[in-house]
Amino acid sequence: MKLLLGLTMIGQTLAFTTRSASVASKRIGSSLRMASSRPYLIGGNWKANGTVASVEKLVAEFNAAGPIPPNTDVVIGAPFIHIPMLLNTLRPDIKVAAQNSALTGTGAHTGEVCASQLKDLGLEWVILGHSERREGFGMAGEDSKLVADKTKLAIDEGLKVMFCIGEKKEEREAGTTMDVCAEQMAPLAEILSEDEWANVSIAYEPVWAIGTGLTATPEMAQETHANIRQWVAANVSQKVADAVQIQYGGSMNGGNAKALLAENDIDGGLIGGDHSSWSFSTSSTGPEHRSRHKKLLQFCTYMTIQRETRQRSVM
Ligand code: PEP
Repeated sequence: MKLLLGLTMIGQTLAFTTRSASVASKRIGSSLRMASSRPYLIGGNWKANGTVASVEKLVAEFNAAGPIPPNTDVVIGAPFIHIPMLLNTLRPDIKVAAQNSALTGTGAHTGEVCASQLKDLGLEWVILGHSERREGFGMAGEDSKLVADKTKLAIDEGLKVMFCIGEKKEEREAGTTMDVCAEQMAPLAEILSEDEWANVSIAYEPVWAIGTGLTATPEMAQETHANIRQWVAANVSQKVADAVQIQYGGSMNGGNAKALLAENDIDGGLIGGDHSSWSFSTSSTGPEHRSRHKKLLQFCTYMTIQRETRQRSVM
């Protein structure tokens, strides 16, 4: 029921005013040129959900699902406690990410998990700077400098990072979307070398779209992605801007993924699955739960179509 409500809301995309489209269109040439060399990256974010039993079930579903297109990487962000289980039982062509890593190395830091420990366990990826962590859910939130420092440390330890940025509803309405994104990226641009950017995927996730059923229209998302890419060109280098993957996150689903992924500067997605409308603890085997996560694999099917449309090369 709640899922149905969520899906109905998806059609009600926000009619926010957008920044000048001409800025975005000026870069379409370079985006098109490079689109073929940027594989899609589809991330799943399970947040703090799941039980051993429910994860076992999801793994069985993923393992039985069809092939992932060769120009696509699929990475599931799981709670720390379920990571070893996924590494041991999940098909190897789906990678596993942590949803956080510490600001420090190993030591007397009770409750933290270090990037070096994630690497040691066999992980390739970590999600950092998610808006929920920036906000803090009742605890102190993470500011942009802290997220950048965590990202640098994770990269130093050999991990790749899905680096989340995005504006709140009031910031979008005030026309400051790019100011917010720039503020979130600036400390990272200061401390990463050009080469280190190869280990970063920027996940643009407008906060108002996360878990709300509201999603940016493909045009709105494309415009912001193009502006983010332009910011990277101006503040890092054109080479990095052409190569860096920019995922869209915010109520992406099987219904809207195709149009979003068709945009030139949208190189994948980060998909949570409206955590307010489903719960592992109450319906860990229910149809809502299953259909949400099957969407990840459905995206791969969409991407096969998109690969032809956008003439992405098979990596
Ligand atoms: C997220 O949490 O990163 C996210 C995009 O969630 P959702 O897909 O539920 O909006």
